[in-house]
Amino acid sequence: MSLYCQVAPGHPVHGAYHDSEYGFPQRDETVLFERLCLEIMQAGLSWEIVLKRRAGMRAAFQGFAVDHVAAADPASLLADPAIIRNRLKVAAVIENARRVQALRRSHGGFAAWLDAHHPRDKAAWTRLFRATFLFTGGEIVGEFLMSLGYLPGAHAAQCPVAARIAALAPPWMQAADFAAAPDGAKGGG
Ligand SMILES: [Zn+2]
Repeated sequence: MSLYCQVAPGHPVHGAYHDSEYGFPQRDETVLFERLCLEIMQAGLSWEIVLKRRAGMRAAFQGFAVDHVAAADPASLLADPAIIRNRLKVAAVIENARRVQALRRSHGGFAAWLDAHHPRDKAAWTRLFRATFLFTGGEIVGEFLMSLGYLPGAHAAQCPVAARIAALAPPWMQAADFAAAPDGAKGGG
C-alpha cells in the first residue's frame, strides 16, 4: 500500500494535494510545467517543503507560465527567499521552459508530446526526458509521470481517491500492458 495514502489524507500540507492533484490526469501546459518544476525543486528535499513553498514559487515564477519563466532572470529569482534557492534547479527550470516552447513547435505542446510518446516504461521515459529536459533523473521523471497519470502507482488500490482517478481513465489505465510496475510512490516526508 502506498505510504502516501496512509499519511497524506487529512494532513495540513499533503491532504489537498493527495485528494485532488496527485495521480489526476492533466493536459494544461502550465499545470504540467509547474509539476515538472516542483519535482525538480524537490530533489534532495522533502515533498512537504516543496508544497509549503509552492505559493511563494508560484509568485516568483509568475504562475509557472512557460513564456514568463523562459524569459526570467535567474539572478533575481535566486535573490527571492520565497523559492528553493538552488542555482542548478533554477537554471534548469528556466531552460526547461524554453524546451517546452520548443515542444509547441515540434509536437503542438507539452501534453501532445507526452501523448506522442505514451505508453512506455519508466526507464524509456527517463531516457526521453534526459534527451529533452535538464535535471530529469529517474526519480523526478517517475514521480512527474505518476503524478499526472502516465504511470501507475500514485495511490493504493483501496484509497478512495484511486476510484475517482479511475473514473477519469488516466493514460496508464488505457495502456496497462505497457505500464511500469509502481516503484516510486511518494514517501511521507
Ligand atoms: Zn491515495
